Amino acid sequence: MADINGATLIARSLKQQGVEFMFGVVGFPVFSIASAAQSEGITYLGMRNEQSASYAAAAVGYLTGRPGACLVVSGPGMIHAMAGLSNAWANCWPMILIGGASDSYQEGMGAFQEAPQVESARLYTKWTARPDAAGRIPTYIEQAVRTSIYGRPGATYLDFPDDLISATVDEADVEFPSQCPDPPRPQAAPQEVERAIEVLRQSERPLAIIGKGAAYSHAEEEVRAFIDATQIPFLSSPMGKGVVPDEHPLSVAPARAMALQEADLVVLLGARLNWIMHFGKPPRFSADVKTIQIDIAAEEIGRNVPAEVGLAGDLKAIVGQLNDTLSGAPFEFPGDSAWRTNLAERVAKNKASVRAMMDDESVPMGYYRVFREIQEQSPPGTIIQAEGAQTMDISRSVLMHDAPRLRLDAGSFGTMGVGLGQAIAAAVVHPDKKVVCIEGDSAFGFSGMEVETACRYKLPIVFVVVNNNAIGGGVEALPEDPFAAPPSGYTIDAGYEKMIEGFGGRGYLVRTPDELSKAYKEALSDPMPSLINVLIDPHARGKPQKFQWLTQ
Ligand code: ADP
Repeated sequence: MADINGATLIARSLKQQGVEFMFGVVGFPVFSIASAAQSEGITYLGMRNEQSASYAAAAVGYLTGRPGACLVVSGPGMIHAMAGLSNAWANCWPMILIGGASDSYQEGMGAFQEAPQVESARLYTKWTARPDAAGRIPTYIEQAVRTSIYGRPGATYLDFPDDLISATVDEADVEFPSQCPDPPRPQAAPQEVERAIEVLRQSERPLAIIGKGAAYSHAEEEVRAFIDATQIPFLSSPMGKGVVPDEHPLSVAPARAMALQEADLVVLLGARLNWIMHFGKPPRFSADVKTIQIDIAAEEIGRNVPAEVGLAGDLKAIVGQLNDTLSGAPFEFPGDSAWRTNLAERVAKNKASVRAMMDDESVPMGYYRVFREIQEQSPPGTIIQAEGAQTMDISRSVLMHDAPRLRLDAGSFGTMGVGLGQAIAAAVVHPDKKVVCIEGDSAFGFSGMEVETACRYKLPIVFVVVNNNAIGGGVEALPEDPFAAPPSGYTIDAGYEKMIEGFGGRGYLVRTPDELSKAYKEALSDPMPSLINVLIDPHARGKPQKFQWLTQ
């Protein structure tokens, strides 16, 4: 048989293991891997920075359930990609990082871009390795792909020295493992499922919290059936939105603080009691709140709050078990209970106050008016990426999703700068859907150059920069002495829209609701990417909160 080189073995085995997308920045020693990926039928996107490439690979993992690949050069390139590895680790998303490395026979000699890459990746990955021989590359790739998606999803890293990438081996001597199947879906013990329903029956103020683990496990059908059968109120986490439609009558998102504080039982459906959920502790939660917790990672169960019932396994499988048990012995939480009626009242009140901000036509605009336009005009199934502290938080409460996996954001790690990479990933995974990337001006700055990538690949993403001239609270003017400026301040009314024009996209500068409405309409139907720079009121803020701790 013919000889085959390491680069082709890497690409061929990735493709064989169901890896369809690779994002990278080429250079020594990985050029040949990118070319081989293209020859083997993997969609390769050349990005402008390894951080964005790594964020994109992890977003593919979340959106498809198969890891995206990120390809980076040795040393600095690999270190930049640690940004995406750590983001994938924090979000429990699968990705595979392929790092080039200096020649193995120069190890320890001070080789070009030599660095402890395998060791560096270890802390943020489920598995890292440097393959020991070219002929065993497919075995390593299968292991990396399988490890990234089995059990709790996460990142894996493979290190390829230049001499391994260029090594050749007789194809007859190479063993290609078969494609690893989609992950198993473990069920919970039947008696524990029964106990969960018993605890639910005894609860006076139950609340379901739907996290991105439910979205990842494609459990929407089961979770919707569970909510509809039990009639318990629910809250969705930022990326759990849409597993059950945001406008479902049992969604108590507008009464989030009250629902968390007063619930006596929380049913955790693929969501962690971490900082986003205030650790499940007072003052955000009641001190004696009970939990029924479903998670694929058994070690997550009981973290911060001991679980009343812990169901370790796959969410789709276990909620299916709960539904089966309920169909034999139905349980419906009463609609006229004080819990349901009090929550409904609070929802109505809070919705009205947000509506007033959405309808405020003042110029300069506030966040709510901007997001209302996006909500009203975006076609069904639009994927929203949102980042920047206020941009992300406020957009979450205004933009409604009726299907899962339509929202991407800074996530569990609170990583700013993920936006453009994630939006590019969403656009290639779902060419049938519109992708809108809503960026605070500071968030946009981390990876703004990726608008060139979007233009080069003709990805019709609509970038909306919500521009308040600063990180956090905005500024209206900068002092004459630039070194006396507030550390958070940026160029006043910066012309971000001009950037995209340099690459063939369309830029808009808007100040009024009318200008925004026209620009957004045009941008949505443009076959090329567009960037709408919205100059908002630098003093615009979110809805005032009743307690200071609610803003933390
Ligand atoms: P959110 O930020 O949306 O609240 P988290 O990232 O905190 O969500 O939690 C997601 C949880 O979902 C993680 O603990 C992860 O282990 C879990 N998870 C991921 N996949 C599955 C699955 N298939 N079944 C059950 N749980 C899952």
